Amino acid sequence: MTVLYIIIVSIGIIGFLALIVYFDKVKCPKCGKRNCQEISRIKTESQEISISKKEKIKHYGKDQIIYGHVKPHHEYRPENVTIREYTVPGIRIFYNANYFCKVCGETFSVSVYEDKEK
Ligand SMILES: [Zn+2]
Repeated sequence: MTVLYIIIVSIGIIGFLALIVYFDKVKCPKCGKRNCQEISRIKTESQEISISKKEKIKHYGKDQIIYGHVKPHHEYRPENVTIREYTVPGIRIFYNANYFCKVCGETFSVSVYEDKEK
């Protein structure tokens, strides 16, 4: 019963991720299929941006002394975990990308961008 539930949930998650990947792909303007391949890209412009990042911070208590018999991993378990959000300087590069549709053979160009950390 529980195993079946885990399997169903896993399939659901995988399907959801596959859907995200699918809709993130470039769509062919002629046939509407998302089965296109990038042939080339030309850099058009770049822009200064800030990229937001997240970092986990583990807080350990002041009393690190272990009394008596304790499981080894217990010593390293943090009391509290917080998430710190911060930004790093980055660059957004715009491209004029040429695509080829694997379904109908149409070639077209779209504007795409890529974010990079400095
Ligand atoms: Zn097409």
